Amino acid sequence: MDKCSAKNLLIENGLKLTSQRELLLDTIINSDSIFSAISLQEKVNASMDLVTIYRILTVFLNKNIIREVITNDNTCFYELSCEHHPVHPHFFCKKCKSITCLDPVNAHTIVTTGDYSSDYIIEDIAIQLMGVCPKCK
Ligand SMILES: [Zn+2]
Ligand SMILES: [Zn+2]
Repeated sequence: MDKCSAKNLLIENGLKLTSQRELLLDTIINSDSIFSAISLQEKVNASMDLVTIYRILTVFLNKNIIREVITNDNTCFYELSCEHHPVHPHFFCKKCKSITCLDPVNAHTIVTTGDYSSDYIIEDIAIQLMGVCPKCK
């Protein structure tokens, strides 16, 4: 499956192309995993302060280009929310505080065949499993 291009995603969502937005979104698309603002800052080669990163992430959130995943201990992670990344549950390790994306199939089934689909407009689903990840076991 092809990845979205940062440029196209920005244009499709009516966002002005700026080098910082393009760089951040490009980094998010290429890293292909869930991330925190701080881990994103480490991945971006050019120096960009966290305030700028949060500001741009908020723009992306408002356009549904990315979605927010908040853990039980209130850590905020983000991930792409484009056509290649349907909603899915997450696993949160209580030891190393890492978060892992799980198979989207079950969450998708709940949304599309659950009893709720006809009465509610489901925009997001938050199923989170917590425990100890394979590395920490
Ligand atoms: Zn762990
Ligand atoms: Zn995920």
